[in-house]
Amino acid sequence: PAPHRVQNRQVQDPELGARVAGFADGTTKFFNTPDTDPDLAQNRAWGREILSKMQDSPLGKDLVKGNTLNSAGELDEAIAMGVDAAAGWQQLGSAERAQILHRAGLLFEERRATLLEVLGSECGKTIDQGDVEVSEAIDFAHYYAELGRELDAVDGAQFVPSKLTVVTPPWNFPMAIPAGSTLSALAAGSAVIIKPATQAARVGAVMVQCLWDAGVPKDVLQLVFVGDRSLGQQLVADERVDRLILTGGYETAELFRSFRKDLPLLAETSGKNAIIVTPNADLDLAARDVVASAFGHAGQKCSAASLVVLVGSVAESRRFNNQLIDAVKSLKVGYPWNPESQMGPLIGEPGEKLKRGLTTLGAGERWAIEPKQLDDSGKLYSPGVRYGVARGSEYHKTEYFGPILGVMTADTLEEAVEIVNEVDYGLTSGLHSLDSAEMGYWLENIQAGNIYANRGITGAIVQRQPFGGWKKSAIGAGTKAGGPNYLVGMGSWTDAPAKQ
Ligand code: GLU
Repeated sequence: PAPHRVQNRQVQDPELGARVAGFADGTTKFFNTPDTDPDLAQNRAWGREILSKMQDSPLGKDLVKGNTLNSAGELDEAIAMGVDAAAGWQQLGSAERAQILHRAGLLFEERRATLLEVLGSECGKTIDQGDVEVSEAIDFAHYYAELGRELDAVDGAQFVPSKLTVVTPPWNFPMAIPAGSTLSALAAGSAVIIKPATQAARVGAVMVQCLWDAGVPKDVLQLVFVGDRSLGQQLVADERVDRLILTGGYETAELFRSFRKDLPLLAETSGKNAIIVTPNADLDLAARDVVASAFGHAGQKCSAASLVVLVGSVAESRRFNNQLIDAVKSLKVGYPWNPESQMGPLIGEPGEKLKRGLTTLGAGERWAIEPKQLDDSGKLYSPGVRYGVARGSEYHKTEYFGPILGVMTADTLEEAVEIVNEVDYGLTSGLHSLDSAEMGYWLENIQAGNIYANRGITGAIVQRQPFGGWKKSAIGAGTKAGGPNYLVGMGSWTDAPAKQ
């Protein structure tokens, strides 16, 4: 069946050209793209069709081979090509660029089904998890297309974009994150070299193809993989690269920084995020949000909740604790092409650190639900919940990036905030409380880039909740993806005569 998505959306005209024109003449304003509504029967039928193709969908291995730079000479050529292409892209002007980027956003929408298929087959994303990611990518396209035009309209100053931006996105949000970085750089007028995560090569390629089909020239946006570590190092260290955007672990960011002095790095790195639940919370809502934040995409989100801190009587609340445990136990784990699956597999066999998190308890800890390896693939694990996590313990401070939740307790909200702030990272943080004094205290004192009250702590929304961290969760702080500063970070300002 055809995807009856339009009822789901605020867009009136399904015609691609007309909709681009709508953005161009200002009759269509930026709005957050609605996710697919699974309550509509036609959307469920549409989803089933995607699932039926998912398991046999080709993976990205051949793509990697075909686009790999294998020698220093090839790498040098790619960089030179990007630098050369930048001038023409900049001269095209922000209005023209905006048209192209809006068209890319509409192509993402048109190809949503393909994207969901590939996100599932290659990265293990269930349809609902992939769907929000595609919506976010669409938002990035329209949002940065429009903001790019505003950059040009600033009086008395001229925006000078970076010539060449290198984007090295992660595998966990292989559509939305590279889309945000790439589209903002392109909107600013920079050329881009993107090196998708090899685990998500095909997702990266489908996204880049949308941008090419929308009209971004192939020298302005190059898709590459690098043959070995030393070439990767060379790409990062090349002085012709004006801006490097990394989303990945803190250690990777440190490694990149060791490659080049004054590396112009914008990095969103690790997190160890907690939700605090006080006795003044709606406990039913809190249990639901903790489970979704901890186990969505099997916990493989920088934004995921891997700690919940129960304040005062909540620690003993049977209602809350039973609901939490029952909800986690009831999660159906499986491959995304199985329509029953609510939590998918890991991206690969767990590395040493995650393995430890899945198997080892610290002093005083016990499993309320012990994670289990479910098949021979080594990738499918059931979720785990550990109680008794002690302040200052390894579990308290370490990011494991998998389906494990640790439960901590605190006598007061003040103590809970101290526990959360003791972590080196500060990416996302949550509070469940309906008490305004508690909310005020928490807002004043919590140290995290994205803070959410009475809501889950994943799924930041473009423009409304720009996404980025604090402390060791960010380098190049203040430039949050999905907000205006991120775009301004793609260049610099010079004085210019006042506009006419
Ligand atoms: N932006 C995503 C969210 O808000 C997280 C991205 C990440 O894991 O790096 O959930």
